[in-house]
Amino acid sequence: MNLAKRAARAPDTMPLLLNIESLANGPVRLKGELSPEELDMETLDELVKANEPLDYDLMAERAGDNILLRGRLSMRLQCECARCLQAFVHGVELPDWSCLLPLAGEEKIELTNVSADLTPYLREDTFLAFPQHPLCETGCNESPKWTEGDGKQLKIKEASDEPSEASVWSKLDNMNLE
Ligand SMILES: [Zn+2]
Repeated sequence: MNLAKRAARAPDTMPLLLNIESLANGPVRLKGELSPEELDMETLDELVKANEPLDYDLMAERAGDNILLRGRLSMRLQCECARCLQAFVHGVELPDWSCLLPLAGEEKIELTNVSADLTPYLREDTFLAFPQHPLCETGCNESPKWTEGDGKQLKIKEASDEPSEASVWSKLDNMNLE
C-alpha cells in the first residue's frame, strides 16, 4: 500500500493525493479515510451533519489518457428525522463508485508536480448521495410535536424541498470551479 508513507504526518489534515507516475507499474490501491476537516463539507441542511470521516477503498489505474478510480465510498451522517425530529445515523454507501479523470484535454485534472488531489471528486459524489429529506425510517409519519396545532411551520418545511435541491447544484457548480 503506497499510502503507508503518509502515516508519519497528521492523518486528520491529509488530502487524498495520487502520484500518477506510480500507475505506470499497474493499478494502485488507495484505502483510508478523509477527515471532516479535510472534506470541509457544508451540508446546507440543518438536519444532516457530516462530522465523521469519509472511508474509501479504491483502485486507481491508467485507462488511456485517463485515471480510472473504482471502489467503495462510505460515510456516516448524524441526521435528524425531517418528520419526528428523532436523531439517527444515516450511512451513505457507494459500493460500486467509479470516476474517470482525464489527464489531457480541456477537462483535465490539475496536478501538483506528479500528484493529483482526489479529495474533491470523492467529496462531490458522496455529497450527492446525502439524503435530501432524512427520515428515521422509511415512511415515518410522526409529526414533530412542535407543529401540533400549527400546520404553518410544517408547510414551510415541505415547501423548502425544491429550493434546497437547487442550492445543492449551485454549490456543486462552485466546487467545479475550484
Ligand atoms: Zn421519524
